[in-house]
Amino acid sequence: MSFVPPGTGWPDDPATAATPVAADPAGVRELAGSSRDLAALTARQSVCRACPRLVAWREEVAEVKRRAFADETYWGRPVAGWGDEHPRILLVGLAPAAHGGNRTGRIFTGDRSGDWLFASLHRTGLAVQETSTYAGDGQRLVGTRMLASVRCAPPANKPLPEEKATCFPWMSREIALVAGSVRVVVALGGFAWQAMWPALREAGYALPRSRPPFGHGVEVEVSYGSAPVTLLGCYHPSQQNTFTGRVTAEMLDDIFARAVELAV
Ligand code: SF4
Repeated sequence: MSFVPPGTGWPDDPATAATPVAADPAGVRELAGSSRDLAALTARQSVCRACPRLVAWREEVAEVKRRAFADETYWGRPVAGWGDEHPRILLVGLAPAAHGGNRTGRIFTGDRSGDWLFASLHRTGLAVQETSTYAGDGQRLVGTRMLASVRCAPPANKPLPEEKATCFPWMSREIALVAGSVRVVVALGGFAWQAMWPALREAGYALPRSRPPFGHGVEVEVSYGSAPVTLLGCYHPSQQNTFTGRVTAEMLDDIFARAVELAV
C-alpha cells in the first residue's frame, strides 16, 4: 500500500479506520463544517481523497520514494494542522513537500525549509527542540500552531486553483476553531498570504476591504470580535530563498520574536 492506513500506529496519526473520508469538494465542505473540534477536523483532513490529481501524486511519491529515503515508509496522506490546540500564534504555509511532510506526516518536517523554520522557532521559544525530523521525535510547539492552505503535496509545489478551492474548507474551519485564542497570524510566503485572507474572513475576522501587498515584516492590524490580531508577513524559508540570502536566520528570528512580542 502506498500510504499509511489510518489508525495503524503511526505516531500522532489523528485518524482511525472509522474516520469519514471526503471523496469530492462537497464532502470536504460537509465534513469540515460538521467538525466540532480539532480532533475530528484533523482526523478527517488526514484521510481526505477529494483531489484526484493530488491523491495520485502523493501516493505515487510514497511508492517510488527518493533514494535517500528508500528504506522509509512514507505517510502518503494529507498533512493535518499541528501544534497547540489554543495557540496564540498561527503559522500558515502553502502545502507540504513531497519528501517532507508527505513522508513524515508532520507539517514542515523532513525538508530543508522545515529545518530553517524549526531552528528559528526553537531560538525564539516557540518549539521545544531545534529540529523536527519525524512524527514521534518529541518535538512540540509552544503556544503555536501550523497549518497548510493545501494539505496534500502537489507536483512541482504548485496546487491548481481548483485544488486550492477544494481544500479551502479544511483551512477555514481550522482557523475558526482556534480563532478565540489567536493573536498573531504569520503567513510563510506570498501564496500563504493570499490564501489565508478569505479563510480569515470566513472564520469571522474583521479585515480591511483591500488586501495589503505581501512583504517580509509587513504587519496588518485586524480583529476577531473585540480582540486585536496582527497579520505578519514572512518570506518563505525555501531553499531558493535561503541559498540566495533573500532569507537569513536573523530575518526569521526577527519575525518570530516580533510574533512573540505581539502575542503576549
Ligand atoms: S488537497 Fe485538500 S481537499 Fe485535496 S485531497 Fe488533499 S486534503 Fe483533500
